[in-house]
Amino acid sequence: MGEEVSLNGVRYRWPKRPVVVVCVDGGDPAYFDRALRDGITPCVQSFMEKGFSAIAECVIPSFTCPNNVSIITGAPPSIHGISGNFYLEPATRKAVVMTGAELMRSSTILAQFGRAGAKVVSITAKDKLRAQLGKDMDIAGGAINFSSEKADQCTLAGNGIDNVLELVGLPLPDMYSAELSLFVLEAGVKLLAERRPDIMYLSLTDYIQHKHAPGEAASDRYHGRMDELFGKLDALGAIVALTADHGMNDKSRADASPNVIWLQDILDREFGTGATTVICPITDYFVAHHGAFGGFVRVYCTGEATPQDVIGLARELPGVEMACDRETAARLFDLPIDREGDVVVISDAHTAIGIAPDKHDISGLVGQRLRTHGGLAEVKVPFVLNCPLYEVYQRRAARGGLKNYHVFDYAINGAVG
Ligand SMILES: [Zn+2]
Repeated sequence: MGEEVSLNGVRYRWPKRPVVVVCVDGGDPAYFDRALRDGITPCVQSFMEKGFSAIAECVIPSFTCPNNVSIITGAPPSIHGISGNFYLEPATRKAVVMTGAELMRSSTILAQFGRAGAKVVSITAKDKLRAQLGKDMDIAGGAINFSSEKADQCTLAGNGIDNVLELVGLPLPDMYSAELSLFVLEAGVKLLAERRPDIMYLSLTDYIQHKHAPGEAASDRYHGRMDELFGKLDALGAIVALTADHGMNDKSRADASPNVIWLQDILDREFGTGATTVICPITDYFVAHHGAFGGFVRVYCTGEATPQDVIGLARELPGVEMACDRETAARLFDLPIDREGDVVVISDAHTAIGIAPDKHDISGLVGQRLRTHGGLAEVKVPFVLNCPLYEVYQRRAARGGLKNYHVFDYAINGAVG
């Protein structure tokens, strides 16, 4: 106990008191600003006043998996290898799902602290993130890793904890609900009170943010409930750090229909069927609430069309913010080049990119506007600590370049306390 831990070029001192990092999925600064203005989040306000607050950037693509893995490794995707939910394997052109731990090329801050003797806990809302968050975690050695989605199925052998519903005192939350995230925070509060882990990571889901704009009643309720739970973590004596995996934007037309570029359709018309393959790396089996549209797609040139042909066409499309080749994308966004498409296309704040109308289930969007993320327009995220920073960290933050994946460094090494 008491030794330092090193990972990806960062040395982490031994925390003197519990450190809790919360990833508010889809927690665009617009939600934080609006809730603060409306007085809904007094605890976050007090953190900002007595501690530290800044706007940081997430990694691009501004999706959930790459950013969660960046946060727990303290590194960009070029280091940890996770750049979306799936990619096409270059040799076979087969889609490979990227949500498993085996494709991660880095261990995690949690796992390293656990191995050094710290009590570590990771809780996520959706089970699809659990394997990556739990990479290298020593469950038999006392680490805890579970999801609220499958909180009723936790075992000591598999998750390091059982009877989670009893512990938290709540029923299993619905997969499509604000409660799925609130359960994560409630469980975190209980575990902090009863087991006092040294390091805890709480990762929420963006169900509310995909459905509701800042200031809507459901959003206000959610932010108010989160704020109470942040306050409890603070009152229990933890260093609490809040950030987000990505922002969120409304990508609908004035008539409320989704504002989508059907990129595969367009490329097929221009270059012929089979010339290109468009991959939406936001896609997964859990997409009903946003129809699997994002602001970032990868195009593979699988036939006659060259990357330059695709880039030339994509750049002319209204709503496209950027189109570039794989080398440029990997360099600009610190992405693993062996998992990059031939071309990356990124849409602007008000536009999403899809494959073709018949390839997306948009029934979940009926009666509501499309809100989603993935591009540069969703890169800004909040970065809030309930403690002030040492001067060296204040200066570092002021120099710019603050990323959401610096959050463990700032909370463990930078926070006074
Ligand atoms: Zn997310």
